[in-house]
Amino acid sequence: MPNEQNEKSKSEGKNFIYNIIEEDIKNNKNEGKIITRFPPEPNGYLHIGHAKAICLSFSAAAKYGGKCNLRFDDTNPANEDMEYVNSIEEDVKWLGFSWDKKFWASDYFEKMYECAEKLIQTGDAYVCDLNADEIRETRGTLTEPGVDSPYRNRTIDENLKLFREMREGKFEDGSKVLRAKIDMSSSNINMRDPVIYRIARIHHHNTGDDWCIYPMYDFAHPLEDAIEGVTHSLCTLEFEDHRPLYDWFLEKLKWPNPPRQIEFARLNLTGTIMSKRKLKKLVDEGKVSGWDDPRMPTIAGIRRRGYTPASIRKFCDDIGVAKSNSIVDTAMLESCIRDDLKEVVVSKNVVFDPIKVVITNYPEEGEELMEIENNRNNEALGSRKVPFSRELYVDGEDFMMNPVKKYFRLFKGNEVRFKGAYFIKCNDVVTDDEGKVIELLCTYDPETRSGSGFDGRKVKGTIHWIDKRTAVKIDVNEYEDLFIKDGDEMKFNEGSKIRRECFAEPSIEEMNPGDKVQFFRHGYYTKDEDGSFNRITPLKSSWKK
Ligand code: ATP
Ligand code: MG
Repeated sequence: MPNEQNEKSKSEGKNFIYNIIEEDIKNNKNEGKIITRFPPEPNGYLHIGHAKAICLSFSAAAKYGGKCNLRFDDTNPANEDMEYVNSIEEDVKWLGFSWDKKFWASDYFEKMYECAEKLIQTGDAYVCDLNADEIRETRGTLTEPGVDSPYRNRTIDENLKLFREMREGKFEDGSKVLRAKIDMSSSNINMRDPVIYRIARIHHHNTGDDWCIYPMYDFAHPLEDAIEGVTHSLCTLEFEDHRPLYDWFLEKLKWPNPPRQIEFARLNLTGTIMSKRKLKKLVDEGKVSGWDDPRMPTIAGIRRRGYTPASIRKFCDDIGVAKSNSIVDTAMLESCIRDDLKEVVVSKNVVFDPIKVVITNYPEEGEELMEIENNRNNEALGSRKVPFSRELYVDGEDFMMNPVKKYFRLFKGNEVRFKGAYFIKCNDVVTDDEGKVIELLCTYDPETRSGSGFDGRKVKGTIHWIDKRTAVKIDVNEYEDLFIKDGDEMKFNEGSKIRRECFAEPSIEEMNPGDKVQFFRHGYYTKDEDGSFNRITPLKSSWKK
C-alpha cells in the first residue's frame, strides 16, 4: 500500500525540509552555515525509524556543505547503558555516515544549570512544591485552563535560594521542581508552566553522583542544540506542539542565532513496531534471540537479516519526508533489497522438501560437472560447476502427483529441463504404503545436454536439482512478520520464525557468514554467524512501484 502523503511530497519534487534550508541559505541566515545532528537517547538499539532520521539529518548536511553531529541525549540517567552507545555508533557507521563531532548532552549539565538560574533571575522560572499528581491535576485540559500554582509568585531571591538548595541535595526526591513561568491558560498545554528540573538521586554513567537534579527533555533539548550551534534541528512530529516551548526558552535566554526545529513524520512499517521500549520487552522476555534477531526492525537485526546499507538508504529516500504519520508497507523495503542484490549475488541450487529422483538410464557410477550461470541478470558473474549423477533431489514444489492445469514441472509422463543439465522425463512414481512419494523414476536424453545446441523438441518447465551424493544439509530460517494485529493491538507473532532443513549444492560450503546468495527460484538469503541461512526476502512480491 503506497502512502499517498509521501507520494505527494515526492511528486512535488523536493522535500520540504530542503526547501526550508534553501530559504534560510538564501536569506543568509547563520552566514549560510548548516549544522544538523542526530540525537539518540542511549536507552536501546536503533530501529529503522531512526535510520530515516539519520538519513535525513546527515543527507541534509551533506547536500548543503554542512556538518552533522552525533549527540547522545543522555540527560535521563535511568535507562541508559554503554552497550547501547556502542551499538548506536556501529549502526550509524554501518549505514555509511560519519559524524563530524560526537557530543554528550550530559557534558552540558553545568551550562544548563546556569541557564535555569538565568530564567529564575529574569522572573521566568520558579520553584514549585506541588507533587507530580498535583501538577497534573492543576494543568487543566484541552478545553479548560490550568490553575496557577500557589508557589508561582515566590520572589526571585527565594527561588534562587531554593533552586541552589535543590542542587545541594537539601530536599527529597520529588519534593520540589523548577518550573518555567509561562501561562497556565495557554491553549498549548506544553506552555502551562512546564517542569524544567526535577530532583532525582540517580547515578549517571558520565557525571556519577555529581547531580541530584536533572533537566527535563523539553528544557535540555533546545539548549543542547543551541550550545552545539545546530542550525536545523530535525525531529519527529510529536514534538511539533513542543516547538513553541523550544523557541520560548531560547528567546528568554536571548540566545543569538537560535536553532530552528523542523518536524517530519515518524516512519512506521507494517508487521512490526518502532519503539525501543516494546522491542526491549521482546529481548528481555526472550521472545527473540536478542536486539539483533533477524526478525527485529532494529538496524542490527536488519543487518543480520542480510539487508545492505545501500538498500536501507534507498528505502529512506524512496519513502520521502511527509508532514503526516502513516504506515509504510514492508514490501517496499523488501523491494529495495531485491533491487540491490539482483545483479550482484550468485545463485545456488537449494532444494526444500526434497524428493529423490533416480535417472534409471544413467550409468551407476557416472558423474558429470554441469556448468550453471551464477546470475542470469549479470553475465559478468560467470558460472560454476555443479555435480550431476544418477541420484538427485528436486524440490517438493516441483512434482505433483495429480498435476493441476498449466503445471509444467514434474509429473508422471512429463518431460522437463533440469537446469544446466538434461531433459528428464518422469516415468514412474514410487510411493510407500501411505501413498507418500519416495522416489521418482526418470530417464534422461543424452542428446539434450545443456550447451549442446540441441533443438529437437521443446519442454515447458525448467527446474533445479541437487546431486544426492554431494548434497549439503543446511538449516534455513524463514521469517514472517514479527507482530500481528490482534484487534487494535499488535501482538508478538509466535510463528514469525520457521526453521527448515534443506539440501544445497556443495559450493554452498564456500560461503562465509554475512555473504548473500540467491537460492534459485526461492529467494535471497544470507549466511548467519551460526552457520544457518536467513531468508532476507522471497523473490517475488506484491509490491508494485
Ligand atoms: P523510541 O520511541 O523508539 O524510543 P525515540 O524517539 O524515543 O524512539 P530517540 O533516541 O529519542 O528515540 O530518537 C532519536 C531521533 O530519532 C529523534 O530525533 C527521533 O525523532 C527520531 N526517531 C525515532 N523514531 C523514529 C521513527 N519511527 N521515524 C523517524 N524518526 C524517528
Ligand atoms: Mg525517546
